[in-house]
Amino acid sequence: TVSVVLFTSDLRLHDHPPLRAALGSSDEVVPLFVLDRGIQDTGFDVPNRRAFLADCLTGLDAGLRERGGRLVVRSGRTAQVAAAVAAETGAAEVHVAAGVTRYASRREESLGRELRSQGRRLVVHDGVITAVPPGALVPAGSDHYAVFTPYFRRWSRERLRDPYGAPRRVTVPDGVGSEPIPARREVTGTAGGLVRGGEREGRARLAVWRRGGLGAYADRHDDLPGDATSGLSPFLHFGAVSPVEVVHRARTAGGPGAEAFVRQLCWRDFHHQMLAARPAAADEEYRDRHDHWRSEREAAGEIAAWKAGRTGYPVVDAAMRQLRHEGWMHNRGRLLTASFLAKSLYVDWRVGARHFLDHLVDGDIADNQLNWQWVAGTGADTRPGRVLNPVRQGRRFDPEGAYVRRWVPELAGLAGPAVHEPWRLTDSERARYDYPEPVVDLSEALARFRRARGG
Ligand code: FAD
Repeated sequence: TVSVVLFTSDLRLHDHPPLRAALGSSDEVVPLFVLDRGIQDTGFDVPNRRAFLADCLTGLDAGLRERGGRLVVRSGRTAQVAAAVAAETGAAEVHVAAGVTRYASRREESLGRELRSQGRRLVVHDGVITAVPPGALVPAGSDHYAVFTPYFRRWSRERLRDPYGAPRRVTVPDGVGSEPIPARREVTGTAGGLVRGGEREGRARLAVWRRGGLGAYADRHDDLPGDATSGLSPFLHFGAVSPVEVVHRARTAGGPGAEAFVRQLCWRDFHHQMLAARPAAADEEYRDRHDHWRSEREAAGEIAAWKAGRTGYPVVDAAMRQLRHEGWMHNRGRLLTASFLAKSLYVDWRVGARHFLDHLVDGDIADNQLNWQWVAGTGADTRPGRVLNPVRQGRRFDPEGAYVRRWVPELAGLAGPAVHEPWRLTDSERARYDYPEPVVDLSEALARFRRARGG
């Protein structure tokens, strides 16, 4: 007997329930990945993520080959292609991870329909893409949690399965055609400092993280220059590491660092359950308020300065340049640059969210859009009126200015925290630095924000 295992956002062999189930029920499996035309059409398929995906697929194929199998890659509409491969190989079942986006649920429905019409079965597995499935936890009187803390409390009590190991052997039927596996070197336009993807890299990073950074995470995760976070986000986004396994390993390590880290992992599930319940929140305000945003046209110059990392606020510029250079940004940087755009410049959060999605290697609809909404005060933040002051943020999370000097080399000659306020220099000193004046006055910005929010 044959089963198809359709890989989507779960590009790994360890802790992979669909693969495990397929191997348990059939003699041969077809590990399939579809380069989805629908995703390509949405513009979501940007160079940084395409390159990371190529690494993941190359790694998956290599891992399967070590076990006697190989990856089958096809392109087209995922549901149609997967159904066609099932028909071609006579597979009785197609195994897939439960989708956590609207796009994925529709794909799942259409694949299920297609397979049923052929007399085959779609088997959908939970706990693959998120640790706790969206919809599994609901508060009284609602279909999802809108506030993080009660969700976290409930989520923490869930018993997760122990992670599965990778299979020893995978036997793929002969003669199933595959297109060439996409190669990273064929992708142009990627960020110079983009990380390498793939399960092997993800597992190595997780192991190093457990031994190294995890213990100090509670104290250091907001340290901008410290590189003191796990860097696992793109691996989690593509499923090169399993969220269940990451939670499990952190819990086994224990301690305050691990607790703080597991809490962050819960944010990922939290946003996914919000988006699953309110798919429109990907582009509409989750809470129906504040829609007097300045448009792209109205604020074109300021938006361009923000994107280029030339707002005149050093820590904002440093973070925006990190995004360009690495396709990744520290969480504190994401918070303060997003607050700057949405609250200090009062620009529609969707403009910023789109820019992030154009560059982030971990760019994820649930995490990106709902974090943007959180920062813009239209999402789950219980203090939607707070505005982050970029100077104070810089002094607090980059106290010596090392992060700014790393990413804004024009200011590298300024020692210590003075780098956060170049406007305090005398005119003659300033003339030595090719660095812009602030695009906005912070007290005027705050007044505009408060007026707009009616407070
Ligand atoms: P760590 O600090 O090591 O955290 C471990 C993991 O927890 C992360 O890999 C991530 O999976 C999860 N996590 C941590 N914080 C959050 C959070 N606030 N929301 C959801 N999950 C979280 N994360 C994405 O994965 N994709 C995005 O597109 C994305 N866009 C964001 C946009 C904005 C405006 C903001 C404020 C945050 C965004 N985040 C996003 C969340 C967070 O910034 C990143 O997950 C984190 O910086 C990734 O680095 P890390 O893996 O080293 O994180």
